[in-house]
Amino acid sequence: MNYNVAIIGAGPAGIFAALEITKLKPEWNVVLIEKGERIEKRVCLLREGYEKCPNCKKCGLLCGWGGAGAFSDGKLTLTPDVGGHLDDYMAREKVEELIDYSDKLYLKFGATEEVFGTDMKIFRELEREAALAELKLVHSPVRHLGTERSLDVLKNMQDYLNERITIINNVSAQNLIVENGEVKGMTLDNGETVRAEYIIIAPGREGADWLTKEFAKNKIGMVNNAVDVGVRVELPAPVFEPLTDKLYESKLIYHSPTFGDEVRTFCMNPNGEVVQENYNGIATVNGHSYAEKTTNNTNFALLVSEKFTEPFKEPIQYGQHIASLANMLGGGILVQRFGDLLDGRRSTPERIKSSIITPTLTCATPGDLSLVIPYRQMTSIIEMLYALDKVCPGTASRYTLLYGIEVKFYSARVKLTDELETEGVKNLFTIGDGAGVTRGLIQASASGVYVARTICAR
Ligand SMILES: Cc1cc2nc3c(=O)[nH]c(=O)nc-3n(C[C@H](O)[C@H](O)[C@H](O)COP(=O)(O)OP(=O)(O)OC[C@H]3O[C@@H](n4cnc5c(N)ncnc54)[C@H](O)[C@@H]3O)c2cc1C
Repeated sequence: MNYNVAIIGAGPAGIFAALEITKLKPEWNVVLIEKGERIEKRVCLLREGYEKCPNCKKCGLLCGWGGAGAFSDGKLTLTPDVGGHLDDYMAREKVEELIDYSDKLYLKFGATEEVFGTDMKIFRELEREAALAELKLVHSPVRHLGTERSLDVLKNMQDYLNERITIINNVSAQNLIVENGEVKGMTLDNGETVRAEYIIIAPGREGADWLTKEFAKNKIGMVNNAVDVGVRVELPAPVFEPLTDKLYESKLIYHSPTFGDEVRTFCMNPNGEVVQENYNGIATVNGHSYAEKTTNNTNFALLVSEKFTEPFKEPIQYGQHIASLANMLGGGILVQRFGDLLDGRRSTPERIKSSIITPTLTCATPGDLSLVIPYRQMTSIIEMLYALDKVCPGTASRYTLLYGIEVKFYSARVKLTDELETEGVKNLFTIGDGAGVTRGLIQASASGVYVARTICAR
C-alpha cells in the first residue's frame, strides 16, 4: 500500500492532521491507522457500570476514533499556557493562531458556541483575589463540549474523513521502516506493509511505550518528562461557585511554602462526577462533567509536579508505584475526608455517611491517604487547600473529600525540530501527547494542523 502520508493514531492530533491535509492537498492519498474501534463501536466497560476495570486487551477508554479525548469532558482550553509545550517549538503568536484555527474546526464540526472565561474585567478581579492568597490564576478561556457533544463532534469528523482518506481500524503500527535516515513506511500487526513519503506518529499516551521502544531501536533521542501526583478534590458545588460561575474552569498555581513544589488545579468539573480510570491495570481517579446531567458537587485535581534528576530516570514507574499502593490498601481508589486526614485517622463508611457531601464515585474505599502519598506531596496538597480556602471559603472544610490517587504520566519527550520532525529521521513527524509535547485536546489538535501544513508545504 503506497500513500503520500500515513498517520498513526486517530486521537485529536492524528485527526486534525488528516483534516488539514485533506483541505490543502485533497488529491493526496492519506491513510490513518488506528488500533482501536470506530467511534460508534467504542465501549468502556467501566463507564457502562462495571464495578472494577476488566482490563480490556485494548482499553476502550483510550483507544479508538477520538483517542483519549472521545469520552473526555471535551474542555478546549484556548491558551498556549495550558495543555502542552508547543510554544517551546514556535512563537507564542503562532501557537495562538493554531489554537484559534483548531477551535474553529471544532465549531465547524458541531462544538458548542459558548466560551467561558473571556471577560477580562472579571478575570482581573479574580486574579487579584487569588494573588492575595499567593495563588497564580492563569487566564484560560474554555469551550466546554461535555462528554455527549464531544462524541458527536468526533463522529462528524469521522464521517467527513471517511469519504476523503483511507481509515484502517483495529490494526496497530508495528515497526517503522527507516532507510538512510529517512522514513519509508511501516509494518502493521496484520502482516501488511504501508509505504508512505511522510509519516505522522500520534499514538497518545496509550502508544507511548510502543513509541519509546520503536524510537530506541532507531536510535531516536528522548528526554524524560515530569510526573504529576496528587488527589481529586470533591466539594459542594456552591463552595467553588465564586470561580466556576465566572470562569467554568480555573487554573491555579501555587508554590508550597514547605517544599517550594508547584501544585496546580487541573480538570475542574463544576456539578460533575468523579470517575475511576485504569492505567496498565492500576486504578486511578479522574473527573468529568456532562453538558446536561449534573450533580451537586464540583471536583478538580490537585497535582504536585515532580521532575527527577540523575540518577533516577523512571518517573512513570514512580507514579505507578504510588497509585498501586492506594490500590493495595483500598482494593482500588481510596477516599478520605480532609478532616480525617488532619486528625490522623482513616475515613470509614460511617464517617463518610455523616458528611454534608455525598461522594459521586461510589466504588471508592474510605481509607487513609497519608499511608500512600509521600510526605512531600501530601504537605504541598494540604498547603494548597488552605490557600484555595482563602479564595473559596469552605474548600478546607473537614468534609471535603480527597480521592487518591490521581496521577498524570507524560510520555518521554521526543527530540524534535521546530517543525516537530523527529531529529535524525527525515519526513517522520511525532505529535500530540505521545510525543510528550502536548497534554490536552486543543494543543494536540493544533500540533496536527501544524505538521500537516509543514508536510503540504514541502
Ligand atoms: C478521561 C480523560 C479526560 C480528558 N479530558 C480532557 C479535557 O477535558 N480537555 C483536554 O484538553 N484534555 C483532556 N484529556 C486529555 C486529552 O484527551 C489528550 O490530551 C488528547 O486526547 C491527546 O491527543 P493525542 O491525539 O495526542 O492522543 P490520543 O487521544 O491518546 O490518541 C492516540 C490514538 O493512537 C492510537 N494508537 C496508539 N498506538 C498506536 C499504534 N501503534 N497503532 C495505531 N494506533 C495507535 C490509540 O489507540 C489512540 O486512539 C482527557 C484525557 C482523559 C483520559
